[in-house]
Amino acid sequence: MKKSIERIAGDTEGVSYEFPVYRIEGTSPDAPTAYLQAALHSCELPGTVAIHALMKRLRKAEAEGRIRGAMTIVPSANPIGSTQMLFGEMHGRFHFDTRRNFNRGFALLDEPDASPLSGSAKVTTADQELKDRLMQLSMGHDIVLDLHCAYEGVPYIYAHSVLWPAIADCASALRLEAILYSSDPGDGEFEVAAIHPYLKASPEVARLDRRVVATVEFRGMRDVDPELAEADAEGLYRLLVWRGVVSDEAIGPQEPYAGIAAPLENLEMMRSPCSGTVLYHVKPGDRVEKGDLVATIVHSPGEPDGSADIRAPQSGYVLTRHMHRFTRRGGDLMKIIGDRRSATDVVVEE
Ligand SMILES: [Zn+2]
Repeated sequence: MKKSIERIAGDTEGVSYEFPVYRIEGTSPDAPTAYLQAALHSCELPGTVAIHALMKRLRKAEAEGRIRGAMTIVPSANPIGSTQMLFGEMHGRFHFDTRRNFNRGFALLDEPDASPLSGSAKVTTADQELKDRLMQLSMGHDIVLDLHCAYEGVPYIYAHSVLWPAIADCASALRLEAILYSSDPGDGEFEVAAIHPYLKASPEVARLDRRVVATVEFRGMRDVDPELAEADAEGLYRLLVWRGVVSDEAIGPQEPYAGIAAPLENLEMMRSPCSGTVLYHVKPGDRVEKGDLVATIVHSPGEPDGSADIRAPQSGYVLTRHMHRFTRRGGDLMKIIGDRRSATDVVVEE
């Protein structure tokens, strides 16, 4: 295992950012390769500690000559976001300077060639340079996982429609509750950009059967503890073994995926019609029927009609909910995977 340091120049003199990259060579040139990164939204830490727990398994496998496919691993992908502390809290989702989401604006390349991203004389900013660097690091790997988390949620993934159902084994390995798939071009999310070069490629180049490209949502922001880190590391390791990146006879055979798989169009983005204190009546993982009371917004406390009821627009499965207990009008409350297409447009804010 080799460690190197990536450096990103800051946008003012005297400032630069660093993050470590770990590389492991594979013993079999034909084996699938893998790229893992965590905490692109730097305040989303379940993936970082899962990778930390995974590394000891990988070091052991490497010492025993069981790493077949090359791997590149970035446990903490966003050193810019990590510095963005405000009143004691890290704000790692948007770049303070440009206000851009760190998981938007990745370059959508038409071929698996990262050279357009480097060496040019273009004027850029630190957050865009970070995005280009991460895309360069991931390019060429068969398995590309971007580890995030929701505010509060079950474990689930986003992936491109072309990969479903071939990546059901990924969902099974990681013990996920749901897969949301879409062919929407999105807004330059890392995972969308990572699969984009292969969408129009010839089958010999695309090799979609051996490709896993996904945004993994490892539950909620506060679900950071030793047991979950070990369980998620075991899930990642299981996937690497099932896909042939690592060999390990102690890992059992592939198991069928029993969770939800739904198109992104089915997602109900529940928003609040008013500001107030939020009382949730359901939690992630709950099944709801159309018309069920899912939240109450107390907008005028003390008044006889001082609250508003929020009801499920259709039957489905509660995927996530916001961790805040105060909302503004229009604020996100929860995501429900409906049994059928949502009547409203989906704007995912992961
Ligand atoms: Zn995220």
